Amino acid sequence: VAEGGEVTYKKIQSKQIMGSIQLGIQHTVGSLASKPKRDLLMNDFWEMETIAFPPDGSSITPAHHYNDFRFKVYAPIAFRYFRDLFGIAPDDFLMSMCASPLRELSNPGASGSIFYLTDDDEFIIKTVQKKECQFLQKLLPGYYMNLSQNPRTLLPKFFGLYCFHYNSKNVRLVAMNNLLPSDIKMHAKYDLKGSTFGRRASKAERQKASPTYKDLDFAEHYKDGIFLEPDKYDALMRTIQRDCMVLESFQIMDYSLLLGIHNLDLAAKEKREERILSARAKFQRKESAAQGPSSLNHDDDAPEADQNQLHAVASYASIPGTSGAAGGTGLSRSRSINRQRLVAHSTALESITADMDVPLEEDEDVPAGGIRARCLNNQRLILYIGIIDILQSYRLEKKLEHTFKSILYKGDTVSVCRPSFYAKRFQESMANVFKKAPTFSLKHSPSKR
Ligand code: ATP
Ligand code: CA
Ligand code: CA
Repeated sequence: VAEGGEVTYKKIQSKQIMGSIQLGIQHTVGSLASKPKRDLLMNDFWEMETIAFPPDGSSITPAHHYNDFRFKVYAPIAFRYFRDLFGIAPDDFLMSMCASPLRELSNPGASGSIFYLTDDDEFIIKTVQKKECQFLQKLLPGYYMNLSQNPRTLLPKFFGLYCFHYNSKNVRLVAMNNLLPSDIKMHAKYDLKGSTFGRRASKAERQKASPTYKDLDFAEHYKDGIFLEPDKYDALMRTIQRDCMVLESFQIMDYSLLLGIHNLDLAAKEKREERILSARAKFQRKESAAQGPSSLNHDDDAPEADQNQLHAVASYASIPGTSGAAGGTGLSRSRSINRQRLVAHSTALESITADMDVPLEEDEDVPAGGIRARCLNNQRLILYIGIIDILQSYRLEKKLEHTFKSILYKGDTVSVCRPSFYAKRFQESMANVFKKAPTFSLKHSPSKR
């Protein structure tokens, strides 16, 4: 919710939330360091710890310039165990979470949640409702069981659950893995549920620089689906099937498959365009400089020219979801796109290739971690996927809504329906989104360069 230019959540300034969470996490990770590692016990899942953060500091907390707040950490030992399973060292977690300011993502969901992204792109912190927070607490033992049996999964990786308490308001937060690397431009993003009812991106969403489309949009943009190599296809379907089984066993529904598509051919084309534009801009700058200083009424520095280029590049693409040079978050970070991710098994490819011995797919200009694919016109795609928003349990809150909505609409098309039906429809729909293709190479053909 934006108020007078300031982003707020429950009327608390986002800045205050971000800064306070960082102080809270810093404290909890720090104090955990003194507790030796040990096996997980059942009551670790229920434990919680609340720390007061007075602005003047205390014997255990530093002074700060935010308002007085309290920070609750749910199941600190259990989440430490999870982070360890995911291969995240405490220092790395601390660095990612606390060393640089968090970035706020423009709110994509309808529920009003706010998303924060760590500066290194590894973690997302999402505000969740009280019910979702309670559900995740209850889910932890089962989540743990599933993880130990099957670390390669498309399900969200949860790294922490917190509650920031300020001015008699509670902001509950869950830390999880970021599925969409912001330094890789997503030419299109889809939030797929397998439902068709109302599953089209709103007009407002479509006008965003990097909209998240839905099922009906996908069916329109990719009538024939997206083609995967046979082994990838099988691995993906197997993973989805297994994940759905787990979700169903917890009566979870309303989850989505988040699909980010990086189009290699479009990216190459954009790069060429950009090069031409920048050459042209350079030339024009020289020209106007030659005409004398009278034209120097604005900064003659590069950023302006870059802006123009961006607009020009943005406007040439005509396929829906392929425009928007501001894709990703439009950040020009100097991170390498082939950088290793901190979190183990966190890339889309790693998530599905559990029992496979995948040869390392190193290719100079192909971003790592995504799954290679093609669409019907043979364009080369890199896919980033994961299952998100899994904290809605039918058992907890959906009963009423179901009976109510199924009277209003035909039961089978409403996205709120029984978990087993939801899971089945979800899987069937994914078998339409992804198709098995004969083996192909995604290497650049030399003529194109
Ligand atoms: P609603 O309940 O209205 O569907 P929500 O607030 O619960 O929304 P989500 O469904 O979890 O939010 O996510 C909304 C959007 O945020 C997704 O469509 C996606 O664009 C982005 N998003 C969510 N989780 C992640 C993630 N782990 N990595 C990258 N992007 C994410
Ligand atoms: Ca959702
Ligand atoms: Ca939700």
